[in-house]
Amino acid sequence: MAESSARVDLDGNTINPMTICMIGAGGFIGSHLCEKLLSETPHTILAVDVYNDKIKHLLEPDSLPWAGRIQFHRLNIKNDSRLEGLIKCSDLIVNLAAICTPADYNTRPLDTIYSNFIDALPVVKYCSDNNKRLIHFSTCEIYGKTIGSYLPKDSPLRQDPAYYILKEDTSPCIFGPIEKQRWSYACAKQLIERLIFAEGAENGLEFTIVRPFNWIGPRMDFIPGIDGPSEGVPRVLACFSNNLLRREPLKLVDGGESQRTFVYIKDAIEAVLLMIENPGRANGHIFNVGNPNNEVTVRQLAEMMTKVYSKVSGEDSIETPTIDVSSKEFYGEGYDDSDKRIPDMTIINKQLGWDPKTSLWDLLESTLTYQHRTYAEAVRQAIAKPVAS
Ligand code: NAD
Ligand code: UDP
Repeated sequence: MAESSARVDLDGNTINPMTICMIGAGGFIGSHLCEKLLSETPHTILAVDVYNDKIKHLLEPDSLPWAGRIQFHRLNIKNDSRLEGLIKCSDLIVNLAAICTPADYNTRPLDTIYSNFIDALPVVKYCSDNNKRLIHFSTCEIYGKTIGSYLPKDSPLRQDPAYYILKEDTSPCIFGPIEKQRWSYACAKQLIERLIFAEGAENGLEFTIVRPFNWIGPRMDFIPGIDGPSEGVPRVLACFSNNLLRREPLKLVDGGESQRTFVYIKDAIEAVLLMIENPGRANGHIFNVGNPNNEVTVRQLAEMMTKVYSKVSGEDSIETPTIDVSSKEFYGEGYDDSDKRIPDMTIINKQLGWDPKTSLWDLLESTLTYQHRTYAEAVRQAIAKPVAS
């Protein structure tokens, strides 16, 4: 652990140790943020979640160098009166808790809206009432579709960045019709962002809103049938990892034409640490956090993951590495998609001097090395198991 006296913020001021109430600490982003805070800072974490599998290695054994700086509180923020007490005794609240897998947005829209809006309300209220600083995790999905996607296919304006680059302070939020329930998540996140912004404006809440653009890396989601439900549909990294581990074709939804920018979780966590330790520069801001240089179509992602997995596993790829599948077949009724997501980085660069570093190939190489090491044997055994008659 770094000595607290040696730590200074971007303006040269000493960073004092703080107590951070991290809600959703047991998830993908939470597990990486906990690791970073424990290994590189003197801060204490009150880790709140209903699960702790992804942070077990940080909680046990008691002899770990940071023992005493992390406490796990197993609670559901929907209905637990202990939440306000934990917020009251913290200096900062980081709220990561959410349902955030697209397969749920159109199939469980009520749970999605409750989780992303209603369940976040008490967190915002307790922060506002008790004058606590809040870092709230929103999403890049708040932008919805690009303006360019509504232009005629052959319009030259589609090539103009003004019609597709997503900027925190100027881009509109463009969602599809209500029956496309995919947008239940984006809309709930948008309303909680507006509420937090209004609490800042009217009641002086100190807040920062984070909009992650496809952060990926080890421990993201689950591998169906291994550490999650067999029929579950995780986000694309885990879907494609699962297909590669099982030597099945990767499924390209609606031709795999949608575009995404992927950022390595470890780069993104550096940005969050800067927000935590530089409140004067982060408060009152909404930050895009992504890597505009790592843009691919989903088809290109599938091709690159196939090559990288071959390299790290030493196995040749299968004869038909990808197949096309309709979104209705894959996700069911009410699915819709964001066409393209390139973050504008001006604000985060100016306020916090942050830039992502890791290329898509490199981040896939380290992530798929982890996936292979963690799951290949378990998948092999699951496939070999005779089906019960
Ligand atoms: P995740 O699902 O891995 O983590 C969310 C955690 O919140 C889970 O451990 C879950 O158990 C916990 N949680 C949910 N509801 C809870 C409740 N009622 N009480 C207690 N705990 C609860 O997801 P993640 O990828 O780590 O995402 C974290 C946040 O970042 C979410 O708000 C998500 O919307 C946002 N986000 C992430 C990405 C990304 O690229 N990973 C992209 C956009 C937005
Ligand atoms: N996708 C796909 N095959 C899969 C899983 C996802 O083609 O097995 C596509 C999905 O339709 C979307 C993109 O990959 O266009 C990214 O999906 P993800 O679930 O990671 O979340 P999103 O970026 O849409 O929030």
